[in-house]
Amino acid sequence: MLVLFDIDGTLLKSQHAGMHAMLDAFHQLHPDRRFSFDGVDIAGRLDTLIYNEMTSNHGVPNDPESHDVFRQLYTTKIRSRLADCNTVIALDGVIELVDQLAKEPGVELGLLTGNYPDTARIKVRHAGLDPDQFRVNAFAMDGATRRDLPPVALDRYAQRHGSPLDPARAIIIGDTPNDVDCALHNGFRSLAVATGGFPAEQLKACGAHLVVEKLSPTKPILDWLLSHREPTR
Ligand SMILES: [Mg+2]
Repeated sequence: MLVLFDIDGTLLKSQHAGMHAMLDAFHQLHPDRRFSFDGVDIAGRLDTLIYNEMTSNHGVPNDPESHDVFRQLYTTKIRSRLADCNTVIALDGVIELVDQLAKEPGVELGLLTGNYPDTARIKVRHAGLDPDQFRVNAFAMDGATRRDLPPVALDRYAQRHGSPLDPARAIIIGDTPNDVDCALHNGFRSLAVATGGFPAEQLKACGAHLVVEKLSPTKPILDWLLSHREPTR
C-alpha cells in the first residue's frame, strides 16, 4: 500500500514562507515591478501553475529557462528565510503518524505535492521529518495539473517494487478539495484533514472517504489507513 502526503496544510504549516520566498524571488528578478498573489488561486495548486499565472498577470517572460532561474532563486530564498527564522511547524499528530507508518511492513510512504522537489524537501526537513522516508513522490512539474500526479506516483511505485499497485490501495492525505479531487479522479482513497483552512464539511462534500479535523489521535487514523494494506498470503 502507498500513503501519499500533501505538504502544506497537511504535514506542516510554514506561515506562508513559500509565498514570501516566491515574492522575494520575483522581486529580485524583476526589481522594476511589484508582485502580488492577488487573484491567484494558491490552495492545492501546483507551483508550476502558480508560476505561470504570476508571470502572465505581471507581464514577465515565461519560458523554460526563466522558470529554471526562478526555481533556483526561489529555493535559495526559502532556504535562507527558514535558516534565519524557522517558521515551519509540523501539524498535530503528523510526526507520530509518519513514524508509526514507517515501521509498518507493506507500507510505502510518499509525497504528492504541488511543491517543487527541492523546496518540498526543505520544508519537510524543517518540520522535523526526514524527507528520505518518503520514497515514492510526485511533485509540481510531474504533470500539467494535480490530477496528473497520482498516476506518476503509481508508476514510480511499480518501478520500485517491480509490480503494479491497485489504486484502491493508494491513499492521498491532503487538506484541500484539489487533493480529494485528484485522488477520486484516479481511483485512489482520499483522507482529508481540515488543518489547512478548508472546513471538514466542505471536504466531506467533495467526496473524501474519510475526513478528520486533524491527524491526531493517531490510532484510529492508522487503523483506517492500514485497512487498505494488501493481505499477506
Ligand atoms: Mg495542502
